[in-house]
Amino acid sequence: MAWKSQYYPTFMSHNPVIDSIAFARSGNRCQGTLQGDRLTRLDDSLVDRAGEVSYEVRGILWDDKPALELKIEGWLMVRCLRCLGPMRWPVQIGNRVRLARNDADLDAADEDGVDAIPASQELDVTELVEDELLLQWPIAPRHDVHGMTQCDADLPVGDDRAAHPFAALGRLSPRRGGTQQGNQD
Ligand SMILES: [Zn+2]
Repeated sequence: MAWKSQYYPTFMSHNPVIDSIAFARSGNRCQGTLQGDRLTRLDDSLVDRAGEVSYEVRGILWDDKPALELKIEGWLMVRCLRCLGPMRWPVQIGNRVRLARNDADLDAADEDGVDAIPASQELDVTELVEDELLLQWPIAPRHDVHGMTQCDADLPVGDDRAAHPFAALGRLSPRRGGTQQGNQD
């Protein structure tokens, strides 16, 4: 197994953990990439484990209160509600969450209309990313391109779908959206 450490550095083998309030006050930042098969809490929601997301978590003071700024980008495979086939969800999330030390902080965030999460000295960054993905999950994902359904036979439902992660992207391109006169450049 010696070769493994060469290709899979140890920092990828455990979930990064931050002391959230200290992280925010010091303006710290951490970033990473999570493959679909690392997002274990999304198992029930993902069609398969293809896809990956990159994240950046920044500690900030938001109105003088410790908070985290999240950016998550990438793609994951969700289920199209129309044809039940796999569908690529282009993930692009930006959000801020205030860190609440107690119930009063949570109530205050509620009154201010901002998202809040419980502060923790051992906040699991992967879980933070998973929670945010679940919160922003598409409500009714469909293979729509410019209002036209792009389901059915042209979908890679077979076992080679993971080998062609960009096939779905091609279909989502507006340039090919439902016209036969698209540029072939
Ligand atoms: Zn569909």
